[in-house]
Amino acid sequence: RTPVLTIDGPGGAGKGTISSLIAERLGWHLLDSGALYRLTAQAAVKHGVALDDETRVAALAKSLDVAFPVERGVPQTLLEGEEVTRLIRTEAAGERASQVAALTLVRDALLSRQRDFCRAPGLVADGRDMGTVVFPEAPLKIFLTASAEERARRRYQQLRENGVDASLSSLLQEIQARDARDTQRSVAPLKPADDAITLDTTRLSIPEVVDRLTELLVQ
Ligand code: C5P
Repeated sequence: RTPVLTIDGPGGAGKGTISSLIAERLGWHLLDSGALYRLTAQAAVKHGVALDDETRVAALAKSLDVAFPVERGVPQTLLEGEEVTRLIRTEAAGERASQVAALTLVRDALLSRQRDFCRAPGLVADGRDMGTVVFPEAPLKIFLTASAEERARRRYQQLRENGVDASLSSLLQEIQARDARDTQRSVAPLKPADDAITLDTTRLSIPEVVDRLTELLVQ
């Protein structure tokens, strides 16, 4: 059976960075499941479908035409052939993703698509419900977390580095609002799987987290 490493946790805990570094180190495939929710919301905006129209948003999720090509070493995201790499990374896009992610039919529609990413030699799956719902049989499940203040600070720095002016206090508010939506929703709420190992990265650097996870993998 193809091994799967699941990395779940709240937004801004460093899952994306950590997951891609581990996948690269192991030579495994990578599933960024949040991107699928972001792309579903983007498809709804593009086609003028209301974000709370469960049936129509689920239909879009089911037939989502996406590709993740790598151009000169830089991963790109295409929606219906159109480049949306940066467009789906804004806070507003994350907020819309979290709205469509609360719809049962949308989650169901994306389930088999997510499982299709599981191919030899292995998969690193990054999301909210990778260990609880999508890959419950994964032998190693990580719940990556950090304080909301630290996550806001990291996001702030990342934006500043990209030349984007941001307010730390409004970023903290956005993070807390998204946490509340993700943990309190009735369908697949954000929580660690019973057999997950929780890693608080508030005081850890990226290389420290990667090393810790690599240790856990060889155990
Ligand atoms: O991880 P990312 O910030 O890209 O995810 C965007 C939103 O998609 C999250 O706030 C969450 O509501 C939703 N999501 C989810 N289940 C996943 C991945 C993301 O509900 N496995």
